[in-house]
Amino acid sequence: VKIPLIVGNWKMHKTPAESSVYIQQLKKYISSSRANVMLAVPFIDICACVESVKGSLIRIGAQNVHEKDFGAYTGEISTSMLESAGATFVLIGHSERRQYFGETDEMVNRKLLKVLQSSLTPIVCFGESLSDREAGKEKDVVISQIQAALDGVSGDFLPQIVLAYEPVWAIGTGMVATPEIAENVHGLVRSYLSQQFSPTVAQSVKILYGGSVKSEHMVSLMAQKNIDGVLVGGACLDPEAFSKLINY
Ligand code: PEP
Repeated sequence: VKIPLIVGNWKMHKTPAESSVYIQQLKKYISSSRANVMLAVPFIDICACVESVKGSLIRIGAQNVHEKDFGAYTGEISTSMLESAGATFVLIGHSERRQYFGETDEMVNRKLLKVLQSSLTPIVCFGESLSDREAGKEKDVVISQIQAALDGVSGDFLPQIVLAYEPVWAIGTGMVATPEIAENVHGLVRSYLSQQFSPTVAQSVKILYGGSVKSEHMVSLMAQKNIDGVLVGGACLDPEAFSKLINY
């Protein structure tokens, strides 16, 4: 049986006080769930969340990280800061970081290499834009993003990496990819990893789908061979709605 990995991304929502209330409610609603549940929260909420999830299996992580260990980088946060706050994972290269904050494939690669030196699990986000897809270039775009992100990464590290396919046209738009579209891309990425590394390594990498996922999409998405879980934005903001998705 597949045990899904379900990652909620709060984006720029919730104060530390609101975080604690949310998590108390979520813990109650999902106490009998088998899913692996993780929450990517604003930096300022990490400590409150780590405290609140105690006694549950929910894991807390960040939505971004800097590529350097320390130094004069005003406003940035390092991997060791995240570790000491109790975070266990971090999103890298979310499409909103790429779109609004100028993150490039090269930055994603440098961040990934840094995170792999820490205890944090990296969740590397990738996905084509609507114009890429309309031009029939989605396969090329996706593979070039994965290739760039994994540049210089040894196969030994692959089992620690989570990938998240998030087509830009599906994020926050209500236009969830069909299970077939998502499975097609996930299968493509899996066979690329198999060629570049090995079939065993390729099987060990978890590949999540993200983009307007709601509870009603879970059964058909999770039935796909190469979909190991989901990355959820809007539908994770309310604990009751998110618990329905988790307990699908
Ligand atoms: C996301 O931010 O990763 C995401 C998938 O958002 P939404 O579910 O709101 O489309």
